[in-house]
Formats: sequence, structure tokens, C-alpha cells
Amino acid sequence: MSILSWLENQRKLKLLNAPNYSQQESDGSQGLWTRCDHCGVILYIKHLKENQRVCFGCGYHLQMSSTERIDYLIDTGTWRPFDETVSPCDPLEFKDQKPYTERLKDAQERTGLQDAVQTGTGLLDGIPVALGVMDFTFMGGSMGSVVGEKITRLIEYATQEGLPVILVCASGGARMQEGILSLMQMAKISAALHVHQNCAKLLYISVLTSPTTGGVTASFAMLGDLIFAEPKALIGFAGRRVIEQTLQEQLPDDFQTAEYLLHHGLLDLIVPRSFLKQALSETLTLYKEAPLKVQGQIPYGQRGPLTKIREEQLRRFIQSPKNPNYKHLVTEFEELLSALTGEKTSIDSLTSDNLQKAFDLACNTQTRLDWLQVNENKISIRPVFK
Ligand SMILES: [Zn+2]
Repeated sequence: MSILSWLENQRKLKLLNAPNYSQQESDGSQGLWTRCDHCGVILYIKHLKENQRVCFGCGYHLQMSSTERIDYLIDTGTWRPFDETVSPCDPLEFKDQKPYTERLKDAQERTGLQDAVQTGTGLLDGIPVALGVMDFTFMGGSMGSVVGEKITRLIEYATQEGLPVILVCASGGARMQEGILSLMQMAKISAALHVHQNCAKLLYISVLTSPTTGGVTASFAMLGDLIFAEPKALIGFAGRRVIEQTLQEQLPDDFQTAEYLLHHGLLDLIVPRSFLKQALSETLTLYKEAPLKVQGQIPYGQRGPLTKIREEQLRRFIQSPKNPNYKHLVTEFEELLSALTGEKTSIDSLTSDNLQKAFDLACNTQTRLDWLQVNENKISIRPVFK
């Protein structure tokens, strides 16, 4: 062995034995152990994951990533994600200690997500649902324009397809770095939910996890037909300290916890994580079988836009005079014109004079009545439908 190759081998060995800092930095949750936020017990992450991130010591529900939640709630192999490539931009060119674009890039690299929500469809115990799951690890689950847009698209899709919507909330509120553009998402989502719930008469269940605060609480989190929450979840609008300072009053210890809110009538049910899927599927089944259900209707103008295929079909129909349907339409129009003007009129020989004459005849109330009462033998309108 030459001295150079020996040196090279030593260098390789050194690299192999060195602790891998970069990997640890890239994902903090990849370590072996973690500590319970509530009781301080040290927990082995592998076992914790198998227990759906519920503490073995005190039963506290630790934070769960959106992917873990989807894996747990949706039947294996049925998840179809939506709008995965929609990503935020920086309209205000916002900068605090760090530019907003840099914060975004960091969060995107760390989580592998484009923004703080994952949406899509899938089967929950065999029931098709539209599911949106917020991810607290992406900039505190804050609601920016992308979160708002993705949730709105999900709700609109569910409305068109008649699917129930389930949104799992975990958020620190609206995203400050996008200013008013974040705040308007509250109204946008609420409007989409109004059509979904009140016009189409479809079900929306919101599941509140710790923490659900700020603009999310003030909009879609609290709009659920049914509002579920996880035990001991922190749910509120403004922070505890802000309220204490404003009111100059001492707040109770369990203030803004799920139990406190349930006691005061803001929630419908507190469900431990291990029963959540079962509770959701039983609720959906009950809803499906419910008597006296009202048939919903999507208001005009709220219907989905034409699909690309339908649009192209219409365009081709209009542009092709050879189309028999189109020909028939022209013949019908010519017949109508001839009947009204009393002389043979074709679309090619149409002058502005006899068009005006036809127009006058058709629009004049009396003539229109005559035309309606006219003997069927004289003019034939829509012969194909007779
Ligand atoms: Zn614990």
C-alpha cells in the first residue's frame, strides 16, 4: 500500500466515523428520542409513532405531521393529492430578520411540502371524502394565500362532486408575511363553505388539533357542521397573555383548552386520536343514512367552469357549418325569418332591412302573440322535436 492510498483510506474512515450533522439538521424529528411536552417523559420515537404520537406516560397528544395524519386517516393506496405544485410567492417583498422567500425555501426543504396544507381525496373506511390536513411544522401552519387557495379548491371540488369535506386544522393563524392577502383567505374559504354547506347541503367536519389559533379559528375551523377536537388541544383566537392584559383579569387554568370549549358549547366532541378515524367514519355513515335529508342545489354561476373537452366541443360546433346540428339551426332560423317577413329569406340574402323587419315583428308584443297563436301548418318550428 502506497502512502498516498493509506492517507486516502484514513480520510475515508474519518468521514465514515464522523457524526452526520447535515442529516440531523435536515430533519429534527428523525432522532431516536424525544420528550413529552406535557409530562416530560423521555419517549422512543419509533414506539411513539406506532402509538400515533400519543405519550405513553400521560396520554398527551404530541404534534403529528400532515403526512402521518393522512397515512392514518386514509385507506392505504387511495390518497389522490390536489394542487401539489401550487407554491407561494412574495407579493409584499416582506423582510424581517430574514427575507420571506428564504423562510419559505427553508420550510420547503425541511418538510418537503410547498405550503402548510395538504389536500386531496381518498377513502376513509371505504367512504370517499375530500380531506385537507394542515401541517404545523411548515411555518407554524400559518394560512397564506396558497393554503387559502388549496382549501377553497378542495371545497369547490367537493361541492361539485358531492363529497363530504374534512379539514384537520393546526395553525398559528394568518401568515403575517403576506399581510392582507392572508386575511382575505378567511372570507374566501368561508364563502366556499357557505355554498358547500347551505346550498349544496353537504357535510363539513372540522377536526381541531393543538394548536388551532388566530385566523383559522376565526374562519373555517369553527364553521364545521360538526366540530371535533383532540384532547387537551389548545384552541383560541388571541393568545392568553393578550386577553389577560386587555381584560386585566386572571383567566382559569384550562382556558382555551378543548375541554373548556366543550364545556362552554363551542365544540361537539372530543375524540382521542386512536378513535378519530372510527368516529369520522361512523359520523359519515350516520349522515348518509339520515332521514329527511334535503336535496341541495348549487346556485347558478357557482357551478364549475366548462371542462376543456366541453369547451373544445362547443368551439368546434360553432365553427363548423357542415355539422348537421348547426345546419339545422340555420334552417330553423331562416324558416322563422321567412314566416315573419312573409317572403323567402335565406341567411345569405339577409339584408339589414329585412332583418330589422323581422326584428320588429318578433319584438312587437302584438305580433308575438299572433305568432304564438298562428296555425301550426303555416310555419314549422323545431320539426325534429314534434
Ligand atoms: Zn406525557
